[in-house]
Amino acid sequence: MLYTHATIITVNTNRDVFTNGAIFVRGNLIADVGRSEELILKYPEEETYNLEGHIVIPGLISTHMHTAQTLLRGAADDLELVSWLCERIWVLQGNFTPEDGYAAARISIAEMLKTGTTCFLESMFANRYGFGGLCKAVEESGIRGCLGKIVMDIGTYAKDPKWAMHPGLVEDREMSLLGAIKMRERWDKKANDRIRIWFGARTPGGVSEGLYKEMASISREKSIPITMHCAEVKADREFFASLSPPQTPMSFCDNVGLLGPSTVLVHMVHLDDTDIAKLAETNTHVAHCPTSNAKLASGICRVPELLNAGVNVGLGTDGAPCNNANDLMQEMKLAAIIHKAKSYDPTLVPAETVLEMATINGAKALGLEDHIGSLEVGKKADFVAVDMRRVHLQPYFSPVSAIVYSATGADVRMVVVDGEIVVEGGKLKTMDEEEVWKEGEKRGHEIAERAGLGEKVKGRWPIIV
Ligand SMILES: [Zn+2]
Repeated sequence: MLYTHATIITVNTNRDVFTNGAIFVRGNLIADVGRSEELILKYPEEETYNLEGHIVIPGLISTHMHTAQTLLRGAADDLELVSWLCERIWVLQGNFTPEDGYAAARISIAEMLKTGTTCFLESMFANRYGFGGLCKAVEESGIRGCLGKIVMDIGTYAKDPKWAMHPGLVEDREMSLLGAIKMRERWDKKANDRIRIWFGARTPGGVSEGLYKEMASISREKSIPITMHCAEVKADREFFASLSPPQTPMSFCDNVGLLGPSTVLVHMVHLDDTDIAKLAETNTHVAHCPTSNAKLASGICRVPELLNAGVNVGLGTDGAPCNNANDLMQEMKLAAIIHKAKSYDPTLVPAETVLEMATINGAKALGLEDHIGSLEVGKKADFVAVDMRRVHLQPYFSPVSAIVYSATGADVRMVVVDGEIVVEGGKLKTMDEEEVWKEGEKRGHEIAERAGLGEKVKGRWPIIV
């Protein structure tokens, strides 16, 4: 198929933007990219697909996502983190069934695909949500997924009983670490290589040092990448400082073998200069989630300093209870704006940098930069077309600015993953959307009832039925 007449932001090495460009897809790969008139002459026999009026970008890559939490969208707004986590999220998640996990994966993936995300890193899917159902949902939907299976052996957080996890979520070494390895053997590289299985380690405080070390050594031996939340809130930094001898977030991670090019650390809000230097030195990746950090009042990640130091930073939405959208297009806008506000410097983190974070940097973080993250010959055909023929998107002068600052996921009209059209005319082709959202609605409310939170999640104003 020859896709023609689009403005194409390639994010190739040269960062070329074609104003009337074409992409030739053969099988699941990009066979050619260039000017429309040249490619039409070069491939006269090929079926064409006219994308006039659209901007085409590489498929967006979310480096941090909790698929289970989409059933809890808006169920924990405007709460501080301990109440958010211990009184709402863990209680709700501790009441999930595997069928809920599958429905959550489907609604998450449907939303991501429709808003232009073609690959995501699931942070830590628990055993009770039914890990096989997540893999099945990825396989059926056509999306690409790096799926972190939770690794943990302590049922608290930062060793404070106040931060106890819901018992329904607690896993031991066997269920979590060995379970992840089993899932890896069953699912890694399945679905035409769209599925990769990762270790989704719990935050320090929720995993013993021995288990971290064992996971890190298996990670190196079997090439299983690791993702983990780290230094998200001030209390995390205080936890590291309270250890003996006192640690910083990155000295701790270094000591237990977590740092390296196969690790994605998430949030990373509370870092000092030595932490940043350690990340750069070890080529460890960072997933930046500005909406989540702002909404939970965790703080603002030092992204300009990380980028200056040469650290690879990707972008993530985090989960639906702290965002409340899995829309990376919206996340790009906040990522471009929030660092300007904090620093009084509007030149920091420009639109181009943010689009890199959401595409090629994300691909590097996932170890997939040879396959995805830019529109170049030989890479997988993963791309997104945004229809610009709309009043809120015109006029535009810089296509990158228009994508980062003006468009949202609702403007995505077509999505191709692995050479297949999975969204066309703004509609999902691989799932029945109505069935997916109705199932999500039903199961989300059932979980809240089972958790005894049916009334609390309805907000602060009187509800009249
Ligand atoms: Zn998270």
